[in-house]
Amino acid sequence: MKTNLLGYPRIGSKRELKKSSEAYWKHDITLENHLKNAKAIRQDNWIFQDEIGIDLIPSNDFSLYDHVLDLTLTLGCIPERYNNLKLNENPLDLYYAMARGIQKDGLDVTAMEMTKWFDTNYHYIVPEFHKNQTFELLNLKAVNEFKEALELGIKTKPVLIGPVTFLLLGKETEHNFHRIELLDKLLPVYFQLVEQLINAGAEYIQFDEPCLVTDLSITEQQAITKTYTTLASTFPNLKIILANYFDCYGTNLKTVLKLPVHALHLDLVRCTLQLDDILNADECNKKTILSLGVIDGRNIWKNDFEHSLKLIEKAVNLLGKDSVWIGSSCSLLHSPIDLNLEQKLPTDIKQWLAFAKQKVEEIVRLKALVIDPNSDENITALKANKQSIVNKSTSELIHNEAVKHRVSKLTAQDSSRQSAFKFRQSQQKSILNLPLFPTTTIGSFPQTKSIRSWRSKFKKGEISQTEYDHLIQDEIEETIRFQESIGLDVLVHGEFERNDMVEYFGEQLKGFAFTNFGWVQSYGSRCVKPPIIFGDVSREHPMTVNWTAYAQSLTDIPVKGMLTGPVTILQWSFVRNDQSRATTCKQIALAIRDEVLDLESAGVKVIQIDEPAIREGLPLRKADWQAYLNWAIESFKISSCGVADSTQIHTHMCYSEFNDIIDSVAALDADVITIETSRSNMELLDAFVDYKYPNEIGPGVYDIHSPRIPSSEEIELLLKKACNLLPIEHIWVNPDCGLKTRDWPETKKALTHLVNTAKKLRAEF
Ligand code: GLN
Ligand code: ZN
Repeated sequence: MKTNLLGYPRIGSKRELKKSSEAYWKHDITLENHLKNAKAIRQDNWIFQDEIGIDLIPSNDFSLYDHVLDLTLTLGCIPERYNNLKLNENPLDLYYAMARGIQKDGLDVTAMEMTKWFDTNYHYIVPEFHKNQTFELLNLKAVNEFKEALELGIKTKPVLIGPVTFLLLGKETEHNFHRIELLDKLLPVYFQLVEQLINAGAEYIQFDEPCLVTDLSITEQQAITKTYTTLASTFPNLKIILANYFDCYGTNLKTVLKLPVHALHLDLVRCTLQLDDILNADECNKKTILSLGVIDGRNIWKNDFEHSLKLIEKAVNLLGKDSVWIGSSCSLLHSPIDLNLEQKLPTDIKQWLAFAKQKVEEIVRLKALVIDPNSDENITALKANKQSIVNKSTSELIHNEAVKHRVSKLTAQDSSRQSAFKFRQSQQKSILNLPLFPTTTIGSFPQTKSIRSWRSKFKKGEISQTEYDHLIQDEIEETIRFQESIGLDVLVHGEFERNDMVEYFGEQLKGFAFTNFGWVQSYGSRCVKPPIIFGDVSREHPMTVNWTAYAQSLTDIPVKGMLTGPVTILQWSFVRNDQSRATTCKQIALAIRDEVLDLESAGVKVIQIDEPAIREGLPLRKADWQAYLNWAIESFKISSCGVADSTQIHTHMCYSEFNDIIDSVAALDADVITIETSRSNMELLDAFVDYKYPNEIGPGVYDIHSPRIPSSEEIELLLKKACNLLPIEHIWVNPDCGLKTRDWPETKKALTHLVNTAKKLRAEF
């Protein structure tokens, strides 16, 4: 029996990678030092896993920015626009240019697109394929990292994204082919990489094929079969681990069970039932090892050992100990790193939790419990585990009868506006008096170093509440003045008081707990610190009204109130595992509804409820979509529908494709929706156009994920494109998303271009 870890967080327990990357980008540290910092993180991870007793330790799970981009570059899939970059000998220049765009010494190239990694909040860089795509082995990152661990005396299991998932994660840049057709060209190059790994001494390789959680077409299933039969015949001595996670194998199970692989990994957290399916399947090759993903890589709750042991025993009884491995459900990339760093979490709650480090310990403990159940140490550990599981299920911290009652009394009326959109639109027009192509932003303005330092000083008690409030108020005032000066039509206060759009609300709601170091990578150097929803959610007091009202008091131009929507709060938090997500979401929705109504009473006429996470909440299999969408839409509407017709509700979504959920997006019935479209060159608008989306819409014209400043000409092109697609009186002009990660100078220039372009167009129409 082996312990198998699919992947470990790469940001470092104190976000060392983020700090190093950002310092490097600012030229504050040298390339050499940056690489040294990265190496230290990898080594710490390996040594920890090795010392604690993980048998199959992952390598190449580290990445300087994104593991999909790593493979894209390794396999030589460099989009043409980067070919002519006169980048010097530093290979990271190209890598970061693909990730972040580049604007330097006359160079001006946009970044590659980014999208969500399955149903997680991790974002990967989307590979781009054209019909005559060729591949070549450009670097040996995976091999080098394997060797690096070997130098420490640790023989790792390299992790590679499987060829089929790699192709499916990408997108075609031409419409005359499907990317899966590139498999035959890809495999030989991919196999060169495998060969190099084997030559370096790799015995096991983990191939991640999470595309297996989706409903693959026959062609795609055949691609899987072809890949793994050829792989096995080309490298007969290689121990192939095929890893799927985030759900069960579903309709792909038959295909997968026939594959000549050494081990098959199952996510038994998301899908427990598949264990029986597999053990009972006629195709089940009793020689294939099953790697049981019993430790939840996506949530923070302590493992229920009794439950896991039952699953493990079931497999062991049928296959024998040697054919069963114990592991994490997926890579621990999605877990915070170390619970032991947390000093402020209430101890009651802390004892219910396990972060990546503790999860690794749990994996090792579970193996010990199977191998040596009667040792004193194991008996004690099992007892303690049972105790904390019981303690959680009965804790008074969790239950609030008033909240449960309010959810049970919800009616259809609570999730419906008073009048239809057309009527509301005319009411809002007469009150807001906005021009054609109204301009606005998505909410946040640059979160400068000083703002972050005020917050941290305030939290440490080094400055008082009054001092802190004044600093934030000054920042708000300056931002309002700036927005007025360039002529934006709907202003925002800038969200300076918020560390994070979910954490800020969670901190003020009951039922949430917070960590100090519970960071999880979102993309590149961006990390999020999801709150932990442990109990029934309620709002004790207004959360945003003071700041918004203050901003509005400074100006006659409408200021938009900014809230995070219930689905996004749910989606970006660690959620309870003792009640449905639907119920938790409705509890949050009611809390947001109360806030919306308080904003309205305070005179705020435009309220934005951000729901960037609606799409990522979609179950991975289409059959499960509608059930989710029903409660997600209802939750948004519970939060937004209490207002008068004349109050304008905005919503905002980013990184989303809308084609297959456009009817649900329309069902949200927001008066205005702002979306991210600039990177896709307005492609994402197509869904709205085809659907004849009835409400107003702000397609983003400024890619805020990149430091480059869009020119007025560029913005104009995008807007004109939108004008050809949508009724012009429905179009808003705004950036793709909030500006908190940007600097002031670039923000000022870009927004000035944006407003001037809207003015120019106004004059033309
Ligand atoms: N209002 C938020 C902001 O501007 C929206 C962020 C998001 O959609 N991710 O920061
Ligand atoms: Zn956004």
